[in-house]
Parts: sequence; C-alpha cells; structure tokens
Amino acid sequence: MSMATFDCLAFDADDTLWHSEDGFHATEMAFYELLAPFAPTGIDIKAALTATERANLHTYGYGVKAFGLSMVEAAITISQGQVSTDVLAQLIHLTRDLLLAPVRLLDGVPEVLQELAQHHRLILITKGDLVHQTRKVTSSGLDHLFDHVEIVLEKDVATYTKVFRDISVQPERVCMVGNSVKSDILPILELGGHAVHIPYQFLWELEKAEHPPVSQRFGELKSINELPEWIHGIVSQTGKA
Ligand SMILES: [Mg+2]
Repeated sequence: MSMATFDCLAFDADDTLWHSEDGFHATEMAFYELLAPFAPTGIDIKAALTATERANLHTYGYGVKAFGLSMVEAAITISQGQVSTDVLAQLIHLTRDLLLAPVRLLDGVPEVLQELAQHHRLILITKGDLVHQTRKVTSSGLDHLFDHVEIVLEKDVATYTKVFRDISVQPERVCMVGNSVKSDILPILELGGHAVHIPYQFLWELEKAEHPPVSQRFGELKSINELPEWIHGIVSQTGKA
C-alpha cells in the first residue's frame, strides 16, 4: 500500500460539494425586483445591499439568516422606510426557502469523494450558520465519508491553525479544496499547506480575492472530477507514491 503525501484532504462545502451561491443569487434578483418600485431613482440597490451585508458581517456572521436580516434592513433603508410589509414578508419567506432548500450536490462529488476516501482521511471545514450547515451536512448523503466535520465562524489562519491542531494534523500535510481563494486557499498556503481551487459559477462579492500563481502547492481545476488526478500527480512528484 502506498504512502500518501497528504495526511488529510480538507474540503469546503458550499459551492465546492453542493450548490449554494446560486440560491443567494436568485434571491438577490428577486430582492432587486421587489425593491425597484420603492427605490429612489439613481440608487444602486445591489451596492446598498452589499454594503449592509459588509457592515453586519461582524455582528451576524455568515449564512442565510444573516443575509435575510441584511435584506430586510437594506429594504427599509433603500426605500427610506416606504417599503410595504408585503414586500418585507416576501423577503422573510425567501430567506426561509433558502434555509429549507434541499442539498443539491455538484456533479461528480459523491464518486470523487468515495474514491479519495479509500486512501485519504477526509475532513469538512465550512463556515456559516450552525443549524443550517449541520442540516446540510447530515442530509447530504456524504456525512459518512468524512472523518471530521468542523463548522467555523471564520476561515482564516488562526481558525485553520486551531482546527488542524485539534485533530493533530500538521498544516504542511494538508490539502484543502474549495471555491473561495480568500477563505479556502490563501490561509492554507500561508500555513505551508497545499490547496486546490475549483471555481463555482457565482462568487459572493465579499469572497473576492486575487488568485495566487499556480505552483507545486496550489492547483486550479475546472471541476472536482479532475481532483484525483491532481492529487496523484503531486504524490508522484514528491516521490512518496
Ligand atoms: Mg465555498
């Protein structure tokens, strides 16, 4: 049996294993339409909503509930208090719908995870609302493939350091896979680990970041289906296969 280069493959969840941002995107489109009749001319509704989300981030954290509260707040601000209770009720319903939406896995995810789990320890690291993220993990059908699941408040160097220390893994022996360069890639590279970026069709404004150059420790793939081959390539190059 070959010795793996990585002690642990860590996966992001939202927009890496299953769809998430497309739901936010569709809800935002509905928000713009609902607010348009109440918005003074020349107001950039999208920019106003993003500014509200950014201002609330430290208070509400990440996730659908935070997004819902920011939509309601932005609706009241943008309309200068004129938005109807009917529209506010619709925003609350849209938020609830997002929270209750069934998990939709991305193409190839179960097959690739099953393959990788044969020779690697898989862990899941996701940020956001504890209730919502927990339900998605447990209803995804992927739960059993992960040796460890961590739901965190923030994905930064300090958080990853603590997560890896808690499970006794050296960051240098981790490969993290995710759709956000800011949250899933840069902190891991800073800690000396490997990272693989797989983009999703939508990226939240507050997750945007410049991509580092591709290297021995950082790969850019189009789909998770390319992941086993990439990992195999790294293992071969380091001569530990
Ligand atoms: Mg993600």
